Amino acid sequence: MRIKSLKLAGFKSFVEPADLKIESGLTGIVGPNGCGKSNLLEAIRWVMGENSAKSMRGGGMEDVIFAGTASRPPRDFAEVTIRAERDVGEPAAGFASNDDDPELEVTRRIERGAGSAYRANGRDVRAKDVALIFADAATGAHSPALVSQGRIGAIIAAKPQERRQMLEEAAGISGLHVRRKDAEQK
Ligand code: ATP
Ligand code: MG
Repeated sequence: MRIKSLKLAGFKSFVEPADLKIESGLTGIVGPNGCGKSNLLEAIRWVMGENSAKSMRGGGMEDVIFAGTASRPPRDFAEVTIRAERDVGEPAAGFASNDDDPELEVTRRIERGAGSAYRANGRDVRAKDVALIFADAATGAHSPALVSQGRIGAIIAAKPQERRQMLEEAAGISGLHVRRKDAEQK
């Protein structure tokens, strides 16, 4: 799977709608302190289903919504859309209009007091469905493909069990655990 673009509105410091093209290859984000580099990486994790407010550097999930500044009122919602292209043969997870359609567009929106909702290729889906799409493609909110500040140190200091989780994410098999748990409950 290749991420092609990222669209944000009302997400953290990205108050005005922004549409960023992501070219193939390695992408680095550079800019002065506080310009929003980490916020961009967090937007990618968030749209892929991240649900830990702490890893979004907030106290609660609504803290991702633009909180306002001295000159700008706060927003009522935050929305992030990620567009990606699936590889040939990669499972469509039932969201592509047909199996040959490589386009995948996932949107997550949060409104104050109303929680989060997800859409994948225009259909309402559950958080779990979104997490599975990305886990099967060996990417996702905890993917080693997203290298944020402090991540290298965290890998070195990780416990064996945590390191195993990282390897499973990289191998694209972390979705299997979710499915096994589901199957065991049925
Ligand atoms: P550094 O180089 O120091 O790592 P950075 O480019 O990674 O900086 P970020 O941490 O992404 O910067 O952005 C921080 C900015 O985002 C701060 O100015 C902070 O006030 C702003 N910010 C974070 N959450 C919100 C929010 N909910 N509403 C408005 N602004 C926010
Ligand atoms: Mg940063």
